[in-house]
Amino acid sequence: MATYREAKCRLCRREGCKLFLKGDRCYSSKCSFDRRPTPPGQHGAGRKKVSEYGQQLREKQKVKRIYGVQEGQFRIYYRKADKMKGITGENMLSLLERRLDNVIYRMGIGASRAQARQLVNHGHFTVNGKPVNIPSYIVKAGDIIAVKENKTSNKYFEAIKTMKVANMPKWLEFDPEKLTGKVLALPQRDDIDSQISEHMIVELYSK
Ligand code: ZN
Repeated sequence: MATYREAKCRLCRREGCKLFLKGDRCYSSKCSFDRRPTPPGQHGAGRKKVSEYGQQLREKQKVKRIYGVQEGQFRIYYRKADKMKGITGENMLSLLERRLDNVIYRMGIGASRAQARQLVNHGHFTVNGKPVNIPSYIVKAGDIIAVKENKTSNKYFEAIKTMKVANMPKWLEFDPEKLTGKVLALPQRDDIDSQISEHMIVELYSK
């Protein structure tokens, strides 16, 4: 699987918004988007007119980058979302948002989705009491997500225990002291990043 290893905030410039791929870095002056909010590259500042197709493509790239999902898997989310009741674009975002790595990130356990994914990969969590080490695992309403009991004394999680819960999406709950969280409901559109124009991605795929 191809992984993007270039400077993360170069991608903020590419997508024209802060992506928080390295967590708090985008809040700091290190995020190059603040200094040069133009696309990277020699002709970055000169490029102005973008076709409708170009915009749709950019939007797709942006969302793939935010959630760290490759093209093949992204397309599977689209197909799944298309078969579900309701609005395809919103369904797609909801599926992405329900990924276990994203849920861990939203609960405040990882500083970025990439870090949350690594924690999942390393087998630190259980879902409903069973170990799950698949970052793309899709959570359901009612799921209980917890740090594995033999991992709770790990230095990293010791620090999480004293964490103040802030900006918790209303569909999730997390108790730092117990290192346990719950999926209260499925995420709705207003729970998810408002900077995303998901209809553009649907238009792209449905051509
Ligand atoms: Zn940035």
